[in-house]
Amino acid sequence: MSTPRMAIKRFCGTLRVLGSGLRIGASEETAGLGEVDGPILRHPVTRVPYVPGSSVKGKIRCLLEQQSPEYKPLDEGGPCSCGKCTVCQLFGCGSTANTVTPSRLVFRDCQPTEHTMSVWDRAGVDSEIRTHVSISRTTGAARKGALAVMERIPAGSDFNFSFSLRTFEGDDVPKYYKVLAEGFELLSKHYLGGSGSRGYGEVLIVNEDGTPMHEHLRKLAEAG
Ligand SMILES: [Zn+2]
Repeated sequence: MSTPRMAIKRFCGTLRVLGSGLRIGASEETAGLGEVDGPILRHPVTRVPYVPGSSVKGKIRCLLEQQSPEYKPLDEGGPCSCGKCTVCQLFGCGSTANTVTPSRLVFRDCQPTEHTMSVWDRAGVDSEIRTHVSISRTTGAARKGALAVMERIPAGSDFNFSFSLRTFEGDDVPKYYKVLAEGFELLSKHYLGGSGSRGYGEVLIVNEDGTPMHEHLRKLAEAG
């Protein structure tokens, strides 16, 4: 069998944290001593907050699958494992046994932009600590032991964003753009990271010319 001809297209832009901040949690073992209960993910050496590409990729995939009639997971709630649908082609098949084609997307980790780093430097902080309490339904006061201290990336922070799409001869590339456009738009309407129902995680990913990534991809899909 001959190897299919391959092309890689890279998309660069910015992931903007809007609204009330973004929380990508780290396990407490990886946080420093004396830090909050719910620390955010940081670079292990520089301690600078970042947004893993896998978080963006996983969230977009999940949102697409939640609305896809083709979604066929191996286990309840798992990623699609059919190996044939557009989501499996783009993001990879959830089952090695059913894998018939290589996955086409790579999402890079997102590091803060230079501007955001200088804003954090001037402010002397790179995260915000939020305290959440659970209110007792009988007394109306905070319940005992119901205090949660959460860390998040402040709203207004920008991260360098990039992903690449690998395509092979015979691929329906406009369809890939259309599905990806849908995924990016769903992400902008939903949330990234944790505590979305508390308003965290409102993000917008824009292309390098400043247009929302979903609009850029939709134009590419229409151009064919
Ligand atoms: Zn599938």
